[in-house]
Amino acid sequence: MNDIRIHILHCGRVCVSPYLPYGGKDCSMLKAAGITTRKRDRLWFPVSAYYIEHPKGKLLVDTGWSREMSPDGVYDRKAQIRHMSVPLYFTNQGEIAKGQTVDEQLCLLGVETKDLDYVLLTHLDCDHASGVRQVKDAKKLLVSKEEVVCAKKHKTRYTASMWEGVSLTEFSFTDNGIGPFEKSYDLFGDGSVQLVAIPGHSDGLFAVLVTGGMGKYVLLYSDGGYSTKSWQQLILSGIATDREKQYQSLTWISKMSVNKNCLESLANHDPDVIPHTIWL
Ligand SMILES: [Zn+2]
Repeated sequence: MNDIRIHILHCGRVCVSPYLPYGGKDCSMLKAAGITTRKRDRLWFPVSAYYIEHPKGKLLVDTGWSREMSPDGVYDRKAQIRHMSVPLYFTNQGEIAKGQTVDEQLCLLGVETKDLDYVLLTHLDCDHASGVRQVKDAKKLLVSKEEVVCAKKHKTRYTASMWEGVSLTEFSFTDNGIGPFEKSYDLFGDGSVQLVAIPGHSDGLFAVLVTGGMGKYVLLYSDGGYSTKSWQQLILSGIATDREKQYQSLTWISKMSVNKNCLESLANHDPDVIPHTIWL
């Protein structure tokens, strides 16, 4: 019996320098941030969020772009700068069509945001936390302690106003858990949904590992890599807080992705992934 359903949603698109997803271990932050990239060389990628129907609760992973990015559903330079700040606008531009914000899509699935048991923020980069205000009435919004510290440390990378006034609950990874650093958080205490620390791209980044009754699993590895070729060829993304940890995390993603029990292994911004539903 398939008890868990994972809906892959695309909540807008993000436009970045090609060095951001595939810059490699020697990529400078300036290159990854797109300061040296011509506009026509930039690439568009989807921005994903995932709605998970689980017997123990309704979960949302990440929140996509806020409506504030595109008030009229089209590319809006001024609105983006207002929402993200100037430095972030240079690094990533975005747009989100009408009907594509996470709450608009949940509504189509018959879900009210107040009925969400957990919103799991894999990290606080703008393309993951932008829409958090639109799901702020969820029962619990979780972010790792390490990520909150990271966001306070790197003030130009993060836009704290996105989650100001939103009640975020910080959690700690358990030692002797699973993953590349054996640090994870077992959401329901039964191993079915594990938040696995995969630091490197940011200090508090986690992957969501969802395991079904037959031991088959789906790995949502957020920005631990940008597509299948990232883990197949071990290509690091351009933005990192710790290159060695980033490499170790990507190696773990690679190992998990080729395991016979892995049903799907998904990067948040993989251009080859189209919205669909997985039954586990
Ligand atoms: Zn991202």
